[in-house]
Amino acid sequence: MTDDVLYELALLRDLGYTHLDLNAARLARFPESPIAEATPETSTDEWAALSAEAHDCTACRLAGTRTNVVFGVGDPSADLMFIGEAPGREEDLQGEPFVGRAGQLLTDIIKAMKLTRDDVYIANVIKCRPPENRNPEPDELDQCRPFLRRQVDLIQPKVIVTLGRFGLQSLTGKSYAISAVRGQWLDYNGIKLMPTYHPAYLLRTPAAKKDVWADMKKVMAELGIG
Ligand code: URA
Repeated sequence: MTDDVLYELALLRDLGYTHLDLNAARLARFPESPIAEATPETSTDEWAALSAEAHDCTACRLAGTRTNVVFGVGDPSADLMFIGEAPGREEDLQGEPFVGRAGQLLTDIIKAMKLTRDDVYIANVIKCRPPENRNPEPDELDQCRPFLRRQVDLIQPKVIVTLGRFGLQSLTGKSYAISAVRGQWLDYNGIKLMPTYHPAYLLRTPAAKKDVWADMKKVMAELGIG
């Protein structure tokens, strides 16, 4: 969302509005704005279609054990996208990524960046929980990778932060050692990619939090977050 729109929304909030009614039928008597013409209608359609496809997916064995497909959460036009590995138990139960202990830490990191979970987009490489939180198998990664890549193509974030090795590997196709590349800008199809440690690793190795924070400061500088 642009600063102009946010400013207008803040004005409405200060005037006491708490809801916006964007019901299509009620808005039909107003001419379509130039913005509506400029915005490719297909992107929301494509997003909904992609989400539906993921929710119906039975391409690998994880479909048989999942409770929910965990497609992603946040703003599908966000400037910043976080990519984790796979849903754990809580995520599988709630259908939302990063809501367990590692998720709380990611939420804290996002808050420390002066953002909220609604300002960013959060997704995993693997959309269904691997049993007992085992690592994803190569064929599961292969089946799920197109969903992630299409999510990135549609969101077109300015910056991607990959958390741990699987997100990085899935996007770049390379098996980097995280400790060797974290904190260094990489490129994914013209989008700046910052690899950093996974929050679950930080829970086990709190001393690495300062490294992640150094990486996030680079991301904030890139996005102009003061
Ligand atoms: N770890 C991940 O990589 N993703 C989640 O959604 C939760 C934990």
